[in-house]
Amino acid sequence: MPAKTRAFGTDAARNPLAPMEIVRREPGPTDVELEILFCGVCHSDIHQARNEWRNTVYPCVPGHEIVGKVTRVGARVGKVRVGDHAAVGCMVDSCRTCPSCQAGLEQYCHNWATFTYNSPDKHLGGHTFGGYSTQVVVDEAFTLRVPEGLDLAATAPLLCAGITTYSPLRHWKAGPGKKVGVVGLGGLGHLGVRFARAFGAHVVLFTTSESKVADGLRLGAHEVVVSRDKAAMARHAASCDLVLDCVSAQHDINEYLALVKLDGTLCLVGLPEHPLAVQPFSVVLPRRSLAGSGIGGIAETQEMLEFCARHGIVSDIELIPMRQVNEAWERMLRQDVRYRFVIDMASMRG
Ligand code: NAP
Ligand code: ZN
Ligand code: ZN
Repeated sequence: MPAKTRAFGTDAARNPLAPMEIVRREPGPTDVELEILFCGVCHSDIHQARNEWRNTVYPCVPGHEIVGKVTRVGARVGKVRVGDHAAVGCMVDSCRTCPSCQAGLEQYCHNWATFTYNSPDKHLGGHTFGGYSTQVVVDEAFTLRVPEGLDLAATAPLLCAGITTYSPLRHWKAGPGKKVGVVGLGGLGHLGVRFARAFGAHVVLFTTSESKVADGLRLGAHEVVVSRDKAAMARHAASCDLVLDCVSAQHDINEYLALVKLDGTLCLVGLPEHPLAVQPFSVVLPRRSLAGSGIGGIAETQEMLEFCARHGIVSDIELIPMRQVNEAWERMLRQDVRYRFVIDMASMRG
């Protein structure tokens, strides 16, 4: 029997989030049912719910940074047991047969991964609903084990913000002898700073917010530059091996390309609503690469969680009840988040 589940979502781009009821499937043989304990608030939730990427299907229930407790498992599930803590990130399925899936890069599935929300639902029809809800049913292949010792609420943001910064830093080999710039100290950026520092790189944070300088240093940046300070920006010109652009809004990407050294890379992870204009000279002289990266595969996400457990890395969070989520979104849009809102799903029960 599909189960009615309490959720928060919206039925139009202009409307705030409000309570709604959704349906979760009865767990199949390889499915895991989770009681959701915590769900992080990602800026993608805002872009998606407000149709900024022009592909939203309504009603939209966001949320893809999910940590929960296993309440039921199908007969063939071996990864987790009832009572365990488990997590779900941005994907709940993929084709599993294409070259990307075979390589553990399910996020780049040639047939499109099934994302946690706003993707066609292979089981119930309609589309998928995310973690702003009290429970979820996910195939075990797309669930993650939560290592012992991690604070559960502060772990939730690792499922998107964490893996989205971990993966490109690994891919472009951030480490000793490398200079890494991180642009934007929000949910992604603050974990990007922590990972780049833990990997042994020289880390420079570029922020528009003077009020975040001290936090940038506390989080592990060796240097913090307020991007409005043109002289300070100029001192870092053409010096970074990798710049990770975590900005959610319109910005002049050429100012950040200028930080990249010969044969270095600017990797976009931020996904602002509108196109970014690239001045060709910004990549031509000196020869630079402009790249992008999307979340990370399931195996790499598990690896990231184990890395975090070993190195004591979690997110800085502000725990909120569900009724404050609309206000939290407005604060994120004002760059007023230190550094991830996490919804306490207990506020939806009782
Ligand atoms: P967030 O917490 O709201 O942080 C965004 C940060 O961007 C802000 O804190 C701010 O940092 C900076 N910023 C905002 N407006 C700016 C502007 N006009 N100019 C320069 N900097 C500005 O957002 P998030 O959750 O980290 O997400 C960041 C972006 O990544 C979003 O677009 C999201 O959709 C995207 N994303 C992509 C993936 C992927 O797979 N590629 C995964 C998750 C999220 P300062 O105050 O320090 O300047
Ligand atoms: Zn996200
Ligand atoms: Zn595939």
